Amino acid sequence: MASYYPDELINEVISANNLVDVVSGYVKLKKSGNRYMGLCPFHSEKTPSFHVSADKQLYHCFGCNEGGSVVQFIMKTENLDFVEAIKYLASRVGISLPEGNEKSSDGEYFQKKQKILEMYVDTARFYHGCLIGDIGKTALSYLAQRQIDAQTITRFGIGYSPDSYDALFTHLKEKGYSDKLIMESGLVRKSEKTGKPYDFFRDRVMIPIFDIRGNVIAFGGRTMVKSDGRKYMNSSDSIIFNKSKTLYALNFAKKNCSERIIMVEGYMDVITLHKYGFTNAVAGLGTAFTKDHANLLARYTKEVVLCYDSDEAGRKAVMSAIEILTTTQLKVKVMTIPDAKDADEYLKLKGAVKFRKLLDNAQSHILYKISRLKEQYNMDNTEEKITLVTNMAKIFSEVTNSIEREAYVKEASIETGISEDVIYAEIKKAGYSAPSAKIKPTYTQRVKSISEGDFRTEGTLLSLMCSDIAIWRRVRNKITADFFECPVLKEIVNNIFSFSPEDKPPDLIMIISKSDNEAVSRLSSLITNQQTVDDGIKAAEEMIEKLSKAKKARQISDIANSGDPRALAQMIKNLNK
Ligand SMILES: [Zn+2]
Repeated sequence: MASYYPDELINEVISANNLVDVVSGYVKLKKSGNRYMGLCPFHSEKTPSFHVSADKQLYHCFGCNEGGSVVQFIMKTENLDFVEAIKYLASRVGISLPEGNEKSSDGEYFQKKQKILEMYVDTARFYHGCLIGDIGKTALSYLAQRQIDAQTITRFGIGYSPDSYDALFTHLKEKGYSDKLIMESGLVRKSEKTGKPYDFFRDRVMIPIFDIRGNVIAFGGRTMVKSDGRKYMNSSDSIIFNKSKTLYALNFAKKNCSERIIMVEGYMDVITLHKYGFTNAVAGLGTAFTKDHANLLARYTKEVVLCYDSDEAGRKAVMSAIEILTTTQLKVKVMTIPDAKDADEYLKLKGAVKFRKLLDNAQSHILYKISRLKEQYNMDNTEEKITLVTNMAKIFSEVTNSIEREAYVKEASIETGISEDVIYAEIKKAGYSAPSAKIKPTYTQRVKSISEGDFRTEGTLLSLMCSDIAIWRRVRNKITADFFECPVLKEIVNNIFSFSPEDKPPDLIMIISKSDNEAVSRLSSLITNQQTVDDGIKAAEEMIEKLSKAKKARQISDIANSGDPRALAQMIKNLNK
């Protein structure tokens, strides 16, 4: 794990950020005893299963098994890596972190990233200044013609890139950025012919692209000239921007999207939707829908409504987005826009009320797929009809809810004249594929060497020995790391036995904070739920004894199953001792 801050400093940052305060910024928490509960921000639920322990400074969700310390919480909610999360938490409480060590490539990388982020803010300001200044008149009237008002321009930070080869370059130089950094930002490029720098975006309406925290990380440029070859131009991927992991306007939408998100094709659609009050709309950035996009959406909402352009390209894009989205727990719906080429045009023609109606009547992804299928076959031709029904059955086999499935089958039977029984037989042939693909085996199911109960005991023992100096001393004198069966816990214990001093118990919150392993995040659930014990040493010894017995029983059954007579004889001898 990349980390270039010393442990003491990370520790200071973690202790200064009270988990309950941090989580309260995202989740409405209700106090019960020394615990807090709320609706989980990582999966959709109606009754709270998200627990935060104030004294242990750990959270855990009993619905989706997410858990950890304040670091994991920020990593997950803000989509940051470990170092970024520490930086975020430090700035939250006003701890200043040292500038990265010059020798550390991590530090340099992070600093450069910060510098480029600053440059993008300066650039966004520059473009915005150009738009509202004298040279921006044409761009402003273009926006007015597209019914984008002053308020929307301000909210989305829209700007204008002047029709000049080096206006931005000169501006950034004046701001003190080095040539090298400016070139690395991608905002200015070097001409292959002359070797001279030139602004990448020229004479375009500029849309800043934000990350989830609201940093400007890229730009989209829309030409105002109708005949221009490239209508849209986007920043390329860079040190701060990965288009396959970014959704435009999610930074705005994240406050209003817990029930559903409207996914549209372009940022112009998003801007119009927000203007008309649909502030839960987001868009991709000129790239195909990815698994990362799907996971990002699943973190913020329960339902995604795809609202793509009504042309064939848009319809194809819907089908591939469905395939990816249905691998998550998200409910997926499709909105079809009649009499307009996209949401932007429809809203301007018919208004928000009619759009809302379309939205509320969005089709389930199953019905959408069926309707696409029906377009391909002629029902009057028997052969084509057979193929159609076979393919329909395949789609129905993805439906996990049996009531829903029955409704679809009934309708299909009436429509095609093929009996329900025959359709069901075809569904059975296709297999009920959906549910098995969605259920993820638990950690202990995958780590076959350990049972769920033993894993819990091992985890609890680990947390107990980190909680108190007397227990720590006793346990490390009694067992070795090999005592632990869970490979992840074994490795942790091995480390703390080798590196932790005898006079201070290991810092478990630190261990958890620095790990992204699932077994470790499960530890947080054990600790969050751990009862306070009167006699910790006694409790730890009982756990060791229980685990030893389980170990022995496992050995005996292994030998018994092996059928090796010599091993069996030895075992009986040992038992009689
Ligand atoms: Zn959850």
